[in-house]
Amino acid sequence: MLIDYHTHHVRCGHASGELEEYVKKGIELGLVQLGLSDHMPLLHVDPATYLPGMAMPMEELPNYVQEAFRLQQQYKGQIDIRVGLEGDYIEGYEREIESIIRAYPWDYVIGSVHFLGEWDISDYRQLDGWNGRDPYDVYVKYYEAVGKAVRTGLYDYIGHIDVIKRFGYKPEQSVVHLENEALDAVHSAGMAIELNASGLRMPVGEMFPSRRMLEYCCELGIPLTIGSDAHQPERLTQYLDQAVVLLKQVGFTELATFKQRQRTMVRF
Ligand SMILES: [Zn+2]
Ligand SMILES: [Zn+2]
Repeated sequence: MLIDYHTHHVRCGHASGELEEYVKKGIELGLVQLGLSDHMPLLHVDPATYLPGMAMPMEELPNYVQEAFRLQQQYKGQIDIRVGLEGDYIEGYEREIESIIRAYPWDYVIGSVHFLGEWDISDYRQLDGWNGRDPYDVYVKYYEAVGKAVRTGLYDYIGHIDVIKRFGYKPEQSVVHLENEALDAVHSAGMAIELNASGLRMPVGEMFPSRRMLEYCCELGIPLTIGSDAHQPERLTQYLDQAVVLLKQVGFTELATFKQRQRTMVRF
């Protein structure tokens, strides 16, 4: 059963394609479930003065949700659309995030850490953020933020949990304990994570998370979903065939799906 739970579209400012183009592409690819999960609008930095094209403007959020649910109805029977949000975790903005999550009947909300303060560690335009910083300290801060995101209880699963490796900056010291503590927190919270295949097209050249982390997830029994993180319709499901092979090798037999914030495991 082919699913893709992590996708974006033109509203976010750095993706192309209308929502309906992703839906049509999904049908063409034989997707059983398509998760729409665009980025939450920026909360803690001013979109007018920050780098352009980070996320949809706040006034577009209701339009996104309305259009997504309209498509869900319109394409019923052809493809099962799940309406989600990639809800950034921003320390100190938990109440604002919560009010956005509560305002709409999401099928699922992904908890992703992109920002450490005003620095978006996932933005290729902001690589100078690494300058003068000890990579290990950055990893510590990143995984602290992931732990805090988990403990808010606001999210259904954590997105690209080791995305801090995206651009290939790696500390000399081992970070296994940091990764495992994050997964222990996910496990204690009864949450899931995703296998995000987009890492294969990034400098790091591996999926998020690593095979080692997946093995630890399997040992703990952490449920997993999968996503391509497509920012263009033609990238929908990209590398998910490899993701499925990897998950089977590691020992997974089921994938997590979400509807109205309820998790259902399906065999794959
Ligand atoms: Zn994006
Ligand atoms: Zn993301």
